[in-house]
Amino acid sequence: MSLNVKVRFPPSPTGFLHIGGARTALYNWLFARHNDGKFILRIEDTDQQRSTEEATQTILDSLTWLGLDWDEGPYHQSERLEVYHEYVEKLLKKGRAFYVDEPEKGRAVRFKITGEVTDFDDLIHGNIKSDTSLIEDFVIQKGDGFPTYNFACVVDDGLMGITHVIRGDDHMSNTPRQIALYKALGFELPRFAHIPMILGEDGSRMSKRHGATSVTEYREKGYLPDALVNFIALLGWSPGNDQELLTRQEMIEKFTLKRVNKTSARFDNTKLDWMNSKYIQDLPIENLINELHPYIKKANFNGGIISDEWLHKLVELYKERFKTLSEFVTLTAPFFSDEIEYDDTAVQKHLKKGNSSLIKDAYEKLKEIRTFSIKELEGCLRSITNEHSVSFGKLAQPIRVAVIGKSASAGIFETLELLGKEKTLKRLEYTINTFL
Ligand code: GLU
Repeated sequence: MSLNVKVRFPPSPTGFLHIGGARTALYNWLFARHNDGKFILRIEDTDQQRSTEEATQTILDSLTWLGLDWDEGPYHQSERLEVYHEYVEKLLKKGRAFYVDEPEKGRAVRFKITGEVTDFDDLIHGNIKSDTSLIEDFVIQKGDGFPTYNFACVVDDGLMGITHVIRGDDHMSNTPRQIALYKALGFELPRFAHIPMILGEDGSRMSKRHGATSVTEYREKGYLPDALVNFIALLGWSPGNDQELLTRQEMIEKFTLKRVNKTSARFDNTKLDWMNSKYIQDLPIENLINELHPYIKKANFNGGIISDEWLHKLVELYKERFKTLSEFVTLTAPFFSDEIEYDDTAVQKHLKKGNSSLIKDAYEKLKEIRTFSIKELEGCLRSITNEHSVSFGKLAQPIRVAVIGKSASAGIFETLELLGKEKTLKRLEYTINTFL
């Protein structure tokens, strides 16, 4: 079904790209790619007070990072003022618009509503009844000569040949006004699809108090773009079965507006974390290391990288334990830096006077090992537990707390191997002197 689909994403550059906006962009992009259509990007910067260059750049960066490439644009509405003037002129000539002097705001132009009923068929919600007799003549050109959102949007969608307007349902109430404009301007009507909003975990509209809301924040925290895209796709759409992990290609193949829900989706952080860790685990290790580098650098841990091979092993060892790229740095800090944060509970539980001789013995024996290889470490530690007739955990846990500061880490032999002899002994010595 090739229907020359052309869709658009028209953000207002007044801040970051929010998760809701990212989802709108994604659904438009998926719809375009599914139908071999075009996805165009338009910057709706006609609000002179609120629009900024910086916000435009941030939005473009976020879209690029998410991998949502556009086929045309970005068009900037602020550069198309003449076009809007021309269409305002047309309406004035036809008697469908008139000037009004607005106190302090200058000479504005209002659109003349003629009272036609404009029901429309929404591709997600079905027939939407609305009565334009309830709508007043509204401003299409402000006193500063700039068009209003409703007007510029319709002129552009009309001229750019947009076939489907897919946007958040917060714009549903604008649609009857826009349809009236389409008709007055003689443009062909697009199909409309209004996507339900995204709710926070508590069921109220997603906002700052639910935590991160912008793509920039998720990026900084270390979510992978593929994971975020996969997660956002499922906020209101499903492939028709319970498959949760989908490649972009699968999403493109399966995406239809019919499968977009009528009801709002809830943002589930736990699910996002789960999905991100899946994508982290699936990433080839070299790519994962590349993704981690900026976080290692930001934490000033660069100097702690022993070798490429060492970093490779460390990432491999922790790959299943971190849910975000930034969490990797938190979890593995003791491998990069000597400033260990000792967890109080772990210290109390595992580093007691009673353990003193066991740990001192371990310290002496570890000193004797020549290479800190897994094999030698294992032989050494097992012989100590045998001699002292204690379970392996009785030795492994105190050592773990001594070198890492907490009672959870990857396997003890791997941990010690990566820490190396010098750091291990130094930390055991510190532990013996401080805690025992
Ligand atoms: N600039 C509008 C917004 O960011 C676009 C709405 C639309 O898609 O028509 O909300």
